[in-house]
Amino acid sequence: MQRSILHVDMDAFFAAVEIRARPELAGRPVIVGGRAEQRGVVAAASYAARRYGVHSAMPTATALRLCPEAVLLPPRHALYAEVSQQIRAVFLRYTPQVEPLSLDEAFLDVSASERLFGPGEAIGRRIKQEIRDELGLVASVGVAPNKFIAKIASDIDKPDGFMVVAPERVQAFLDPLPVGRLWGVGKVGAKAFERLGITTIGQLRAYTPRLLQQHFGNFAAQLWQLAHGNDEWPVVSEHEAKSVSQETTFARDIGDREVLRAWLLDLTDQVAWRLRRQGLKGRTVQIKVRLADFSTLTRAQTLAQPTDITDEIWRAALRLFEQRLPQPLPPLRLIGVGVSGFDAVQAAQEDLFAAQGRQRQNRIDAVMDRVAERYGRGSLFRAGTPRGK
Ligand SMILES: [Mg+2]
Repeated sequence: MQRSILHVDMDAFFAAVEIRARPELAGRPVIVGGRAEQRGVVAAASYAARRYGVHSAMPTATALRLCPEAVLLPPRHALYAEVSQQIRAVFLRYTPQVEPLSLDEAFLDVSASERLFGPGEAIGRRIKQEIRDELGLVASVGVAPNKFIAKIASDIDKPDGFMVVAPERVQAFLDPLPVGRLWGVGKVGAKAFERLGITTIGQLRAYTPRLLQQHFGNFAAQLWQLAHGNDEWPVVSEHEAKSVSQETTFARDIGDREVLRAWLLDLTDQVAWRLRRQGLKGRTVQIKVRLADFSTLTRAQTLAQPTDITDEIWRAALRLFEQRLPQPLPPLRLIGVGVSGFDAVQAAQEDLFAAQGRQRQNRIDAVMDRVAERYGRGSLFRAGTPRGK
């Protein structure tokens, strides 16, 4: 059956939420991120700031050098998560098949909704309009027969984009695009293609799978399928999800361990917050990193008992990061953290003292969630926790 998939991606989301709260900043370069003197990094930049070359994951110090007049604001993840829930509520009017990729991005499978609401394109337009009217925020939307194409479509027309790629247009849409658009390739992989004289997806498609395999090993089959616009990955809604995870891809590979630790902590913070929000506790903590040659490593640790406590997840993630990855650690293009192994039944057999200690941690997390909602995450720090930023 032909599927109808939407990819909805908010434009400069964190910055847009901040600007919405302070309309006097509209049109000005706004950077949401950690402070330069604390080795902070850019979490989001308004389009006015991007014109100066500022982009996310860049050290704040660099960003402010490029754009000294930018307004720097501390991230308020709890607020963004709340707005994210409101956006999610708009999606759920049209389909229960919503797969969030991050706070500001989601896939929707609207195939089964078309009978009720009209074609995917009409549903996409309504969602974009409702987000604008009700939340005062701008989303870019891609409509396509699969996730891979939908994601490219939402990005290609940004900001304020709306792009439909009908099934019969998929190949014509893909062929002229740079190979770097293929999932998992990125800038470094694109260089490898360049050496082979391949710059566009159309040129890649001319290669046989066997020839590709000589150069790209196991990755070749996936490349070949994607180059032909084939992607069967289903949209997996959050309540079916077997893990809660958060990852980030850097615009440039990062080798600085301090910066990587700061990112890992930030992602851990978001994952733990989402777990608590959804009433989930997981037993397994996993980290994921992707290297410059786009190989991906994952490391996991199973805890004694399921948790939603930031500190416990952070300690496990940090241990995996410090002790279980190759040394010296090469620069990374992606880092992520996730928690899985959810228990249907809450851990009932915790021993009394451990339970008391954890109740205290739970109270600390609850207080921190509330403080973060008011003042932004990072306003408090945990004693004995290496925050690294
Ligand atoms: Mg976005």
